[in-house]
Amino acid sequence: MKWKNQLTGMKPYQPGRSIDEVKKMYGLDHIVKLASNENPFGTSPKVSEFLENQATNHAIYPDGYASSLRQALAEALGVEEQQLLFGNGSDEIIMMISRALLQPGVNTVMAIPTFPQYRHNAVIEGAEVREVQLKDGAHNMEEMTRQIDDNTAVVWLCSPNNPTGMLIGQQKLEQFVQKISEDVLIVIDEAYFEYITDPTYKNSLELVKKHSNVIVLRTFSKAYGLAGFRVGYAVAQKELIARLDPVREPFNNTVISQGAALTALHDSSFIEKCVIENESGKKQFQEYATKHNLHLYPSQGNFVLLQVKADSDTVFEGLLKKGFIIRSGNALGTPGYIRITIGTRQQNEVFLQSLTEVL
Ligand code: PMP
Repeated sequence: MKWKNQLTGMKPYQPGRSIDEVKKMYGLDHIVKLASNENPFGTSPKVSEFLENQATNHAIYPDGYASSLRQALAEALGVEEQQLLFGNGSDEIIMMISRALLQPGVNTVMAIPTFPQYRHNAVIEGAEVREVQLKDGAHNMEEMTRQIDDNTAVVWLCSPNNPTGMLIGQQKLEQFVQKISEDVLIVIDEAYFEYITDPTYKNSLELVKKHSNVIVLRTFSKAYGLAGFRVGYAVAQKELIARLDPVREPFNNTVISQGAALTALHDSSFIEKCVIENESGKKQFQEYATKHNLHLYPSQGNFVLLQVKADSDTVFEGLLKKGFIIRSGNALGTPGYIRITIGTRQQNEVFLQSLTEVL
């Protein structure tokens, strides 16, 4: 068969271990998953109510344009409806962008380590991947600028960056966007946007207004607690969205996921509560790191990257046996560290006790 050459030897994306798998492996009844940056508080109680009461006819295809969700989100963000593109998670938007812009002969610039789907999709499309090492956990914007040339199609910026949690400073971001040619698409992936508390970070949608080549990605998977429903979205100028839309699969958000996202969007008090809890959970990790003299990146997301001064895989396995699924730094390109989703106060407490026992 005529497979694309670049698919030879490629492995599928490997998410963290599943709860069922770990239960079986270690004979445990109770597992806490702090591996994929989901919301430990679940989703808005209004979504549960919606799910109990909805009587949709599932024989009918969903609205491929996600009209109700689109209208509500456009209003909430202060943008026009045609400025939005919905995906089956922002994962699908990353795929759409790659499919529309990447091909052999072009290159794409990104940080390393960062969210692995940018690279994964670029490799599938046969584009050259240019990875720029993070500097002290943050994007090295100067070096990223240097890597961009006439053949660069897409630059991926992840802010807060997964796995370090660090933001691209507002000034650096603005200067970068101003410097780069409008021929290059600049993706700002803000999957953890709702968790940002740094007062100096402004709304990237302002950059969308001013620049025809900026696209911002956000998701209902994190603070909104709807990872299982798969709803992500992009915001850009109308013309850019119109160019990407033909790549979209026609019914890419289900009836229920559109309804759940719409319901979640209307409960801003749930998000506010989760952000407060996340901040106080972050403090628990900061205090632990200080007390044990371990480096912790200053995260603006709902996860932390913590130094363990030991082999990350060994620490990861030790924690699995105690019922905690986290991510080993070895899998993330940050050996000597582990990435932990910030849990509830109690989960964090028990987790940190277990970590001490493992270290
Ligand atoms: N971007 C980043 C930075 C992420 O961390 C994730 C999820 N881990 C995604 C995108 C994808 O999220 P989703 O597809 O659930 O919207």
